[in-house]
Amino acid sequence: MPLLKSWVESANSPQSPFPLNNLPYGIFSVGSDVPRCGVAIGDKVLDVSKLEASGVISPAEKTVFDKPCWNAFMDEGAKVWNGFRSTLQDMLGVNAGRDVQAALSEALVPMASAQLHMPFVVSEYTDFYSGRNHALNVGTMFRGAENALPPNWLHIPIGYNGRASSIVVSGTDIRRPWGQLKPHGVDVPVFEPCKRFDMELEIGAIVGTRSDRPVSVQEADDMIFGYVLLNDWSARDIQAWEYQPLGPFQAKATATTISPWIVTKAALEPFRADTPEREFPLLPYLKEPGPMLYDIELEVLLQVDGGNEASTIATTNYSEMYYSAAQQLAHHTSSGCPMRVGDLLGSGTISGPEKSSRGSLLELSWGGKEPFALESGEMRSFIEDNDIVTLCGHCRGDGFVIGFGDCTSKLLPALDDPYQR
Ligand code: MN
Repeated sequence: MPLLKSWVESANSPQSPFPLNNLPYGIFSVGSDVPRCGVAIGDKVLDVSKLEASGVISPAEKTVFDKPCWNAFMDEGAKVWNGFRSTLQDMLGVNAGRDVQAALSEALVPMASAQLHMPFVVSEYTDFYSGRNHALNVGTMFRGAENALPPNWLHIPIGYNGRASSIVVSGTDIRRPWGQLKPHGVDVPVFEPCKRFDMELEIGAIVGTRSDRPVSVQEADDMIFGYVLLNDWSARDIQAWEYQPLGPFQAKATATTISPWIVTKAALEPFRADTPEREFPLLPYLKEPGPMLYDIELEVLLQVDGGNEASTIATTNYSEMYYSAAQQLAHHTSSGCPMRVGDLLGSGTISGPEKSSRGSLLELSWGGKEPFALESGEMRSFIEDNDIVTLCGHCRGDGFVIGFGDCTSKLLPALDDPYQR
């Protein structure tokens, strides 16, 4: 598919993350305005709440864009999603009439002046463990190469229920947590600031359709509204002590950062990719009717305190996953677990087979045993205080890219005493 040309000139640059082919959904405000729904186009944000209020667009019977989240729009269903997207593509396309261009120009805000907020209300949050290279690396470190993958791994997408309350939007600072941990060679646990704070490169899938029964993989794919970049901050020393037998808990509860723009499934359609060859055939309820991953190039950048340049510490691709978000969602509903509009599913850490494609510092530094050098020459095993971590992602089309918008957070030092208010 070629670049779709827009009368918004900046959207036609082959480097623009937000061409007419993309049209991702976010929540923005300017100055002290109320946060409302906006669509990214080139270097502008289209204020769709303004267009809805003036009657230029009306995708649903009731207003949906005057809210500080996209949940009401998602709740309208896939027919409305598709209708609105094609309306936008017509109205922002080069062939739009002069009156249409004039009406929309009134609602274009420079992105540089917009503050971005959480794009949707997270109903519930589940994080998976579906990257094979990541599971192999972590398993090898903790259990040896022979027992790296747990016996269930090649049969089910393993996950745990996380905390919706912990999700924050890009730009939000994170505070190094305190927690209960047990240092090596010590008999009793201590309560201390985390010393092995880590990040995980993931993609988050947003559920846009409710369901209260088990769904097929195809139905699950149809339920997904869009995708964001997701950094699952992880306190490895807290995790090591707490994770058996029920999985991670406080180690994953400090924060999870997501990128501010929801890239719709419709925009990703031309970039579908197959999951890899199966070592064991999957049970029928997990079989995919077609390609349900996406060719999304991913990068992790780390900028040290006071540094001018960020170093690339990993590059990989979402198509490395063993299970797609549709398979994860189908599995999630298999028990009858109800799914709601705004549920968020983390993919699991995305690592490729190369050393340079590992999506966490735990893997990059091999459990802290092999510190690695940043481009500045500084060494890292885990995240240091005031480090800024950025995830980037894009799909490469013919003369255009589908960008995700950066997912950035800074790690602030631990408080002297977290119980002191
Ligand atoms: Mn994770």
